[in-house]
Amino acid sequence: MLFSTCPTCGRQIDRSARICPQCGALTGVRTPSNDKPVAEMSSFIAAVVVGLIALVLAIWAGLLP
Ligand SMILES: [Zn+2]
Repeated sequence: MLFSTCPTCGRQIDRSARICPQCGALTGVRTPSNDKPVAEMSSFIAAVVVGLIALVLAIWAGLLP
């Protein structure tokens, strides 16, 4: 396991830890997890859902055959 030093309390903590388990301070570590891609995927799904709802409403209103 790799260690780094907490900038707040100075103790050795897990290098990948975003929050120091000793003092609870944020370490400023940017995890390489897929936070942004997940958000982009969520917005994409939201856009698709909105589009489908609009399409259904258009058909229901008789605007499309
Ligand atoms: Zn700490």
